[in-house]
Amino acid sequence: MKILIAADMEGITGVTNWDQVDPGHAEYPRFRRLMTGDVNAAVRGVCEADVDEILVTDGHDRGTNILLEELDPCAQLVCGDYSPLAMVQGIDQGIDGVIFVGYHARAGSQNAILDHTWSSRRVANLWLNDTLVGEYGLNGAIAGHFNAPVLMLTGDQTACAQASELLGSIETVVVKTAVSRMAAICLPPQVTEERIQKTAMEAVRRLQAGEAPKPYKVASPVHVTLDFNSSEQADQAAMLPGSKRVDGRRLTFTADDMLAAYYAFQAAVGLAG
Ligand SMILES: [Zn+2]
Repeated sequence: MKILIAADMEGITGVTNWDQVDPGHAEYPRFRRLMTGDVNAAVRGVCEADVDEILVTDGHDRGTNILLEELDPCAQLVCGDYSPLAMVQGIDQGIDGVIFVGYHARAGSQNAILDHTWSSRRVANLWLNDTLVGEYGLNGAIAGHFNAPVLMLTGDQTACAQASELLGSIETVVVKTAVSRMAAICLPPQVTEERIQKTAMEAVRRLQAGEAPKPYKVASPVHVTLDFNSSEQADQAAMLPGSKRVDGRRLTFTADDMLAAYYAFQAAVGLAG
């Protein structure tokens, strides 16, 4: 059995503002250590459940946040960018289940630490076949494309609730309770790491017992609706071949399958300056 632990940073223990997840800021080294701590807790839990292989994918910013020298030796680290499958690079390697660590709520959520969808500066809303999703949904759908269910997610209470609503009865660990976009009641890592480890072990045990949630499958062809934050960004993204401009800030396109939709989404966001 192979498990992918896909990590982001905004939903990590203790993170409440952008400085903490910005590699150029003095606060960042503390929070990359906390990120490595949350990830290692998940690795330990998965390892306890006796799996054959654990891949950890570093999905924040340039994919160079997790400290390799401190990574639990049970896992291997997929890091750097650009990689074809981005935040879930490695999902095409015969993965049986996915754990999201440090995830955040979709753009426009209330009481959600650093809520955004892929690019906080550019993306206002993203729908896959009329379902409003965040990164938990987008990356969950790529996992589903490769027949892997999402087993678990860690983040604030809003990220956990949104992912549970979309992805089924996944395990969640609420590491902080957001009271606004940039304030939260935070549990210390001594508490969250223990919970993450225990829950990761249980999530994999459920999979081994045949009781995991089903993979999240988005029906093909995939109709994507994308709202940008400004009309200028939509002007730029509208150069995406096959896309249709719907109004000032909205673009739509249809992709053959979820993987093609993932690539086209990234291309559109890349075009928007
Ligand atoms: Zn993110």
